[in-house]
Amino acid sequence: MNILWFQSGGCSGCTLSFLGLEEMDLIEWSRSMQLNWLWHPSLTEHSGSETQAMLDAVLKDEIKLDIFCLEGSVIMGPKGSGRFHMLAGTETPAKELIERLSEKADYVLAVGTCAAFGGITASPPNTVEATGLQYDQNFAGSLLPTNFKSRAGLPVINISGCPVHPGWVAETIGLIRFQKLKTEHLDPYNRPRFYADKLVHHGCSRNEYYEYKASAVKPSDLGCMMEHMGCVGTVAHADCNERPWNGNGSCTKGGYPCVDCTSPDFGHLNHSYQETPKIGNIPVGLPSDMPKAWFIALSTLAKSATPKRLKINAISERIEISPEIKRKKL
Ligand code: SF4
Ligand code: SF4
Repeated sequence: MNILWFQSGGCSGCTLSFLGLEEMDLIEWSRSMQLNWLWHPSLTEHSGSETQAMLDAVLKDEIKLDIFCLEGSVIMGPKGSGRFHMLAGTETPAKELIERLSEKADYVLAVGTCAAFGGITASPPNTVEATGLQYDQNFAGSLLPTNFKSRAGLPVINISGCPVHPGWVAETIGLIRFQKLKTEHLDPYNRPRFYADKLVHHGCSRNEYYEYKASAVKPSDLGCMMEHMGCVGTVAHADCNERPWNGNGSCTKGGYPCVDCTSPDFGHLNHSYQETPKIGNIPVGLPSDMPKAWFIALSTLAKSATPKRLKINAISERIEISPEIKRKKL
């Protein structure tokens, strides 16, 4: 399969993340998937003129484009002209090439939250008019219209994440390779369901603290980070605690709150990422499928029953009180 990866307005973080694919060495994995990289900023070594010739051939349908990946946001400014991001040595704005390549591809992948929804690059004041490929934050319709479908009949597949998890990219490409990715496998924001139907909260090592509302108050604490530290793992769609990063890690495991980097709103918070906005004493980002009153009632009950072990450990850097061992009778 011919695959082309184009970088636009971003930081290259998704490329770096993808290079760290762990299931298999990336080169071996590409071979096993029979991928032919027409262009990738870190995997191919074509010169500028060779690349230009390849792009011309793709646009003339002389080379088939099976998968087109966009990394980074589309730069629309100034005033929708796209002239803030021109293709080197040409008078062509990158957004024009992105649009034309999208029309030629069987599958179009927005790799990372910038490409999918605008992300950090589109954070206010967004002077470059950055946007996602088919979404502008929550709103469908952007460079590509709402009704855009690639040649295989799918909308842009939004593999959001900041950066994207390498496993999410590899699994999406694998599903495409074996013709197993259909519209019903995408969620309402066109993210692959295999990771977007999970929540970061699933499998978090701090779940016992969450159950008893034993909360961390500073970054090195062991407790749940929802109440004070800004964690929104209970509403963030991703499998980061079931499919670890770098073999074993995740944001919450490393002591950082989940900031919901797969969300269309990522990059547009109006408060610090490491604080929990509250009304009174109640966090506003409660689990979305639970009535607030129940949550408050359960939290109050849980807090009244928190074991001393969890209360103390939650605000400690290491386990201060170990779980009790029941004495066995001889
Ligand atoms: S730290 Fe976040 S993801 Fe982990 S248990 Fe608490 S709310 Fe859930
Ligand atoms: S834990 Fe949350 S912030 Fe961290 S990578 Fe996963 S979705 Fe993004």
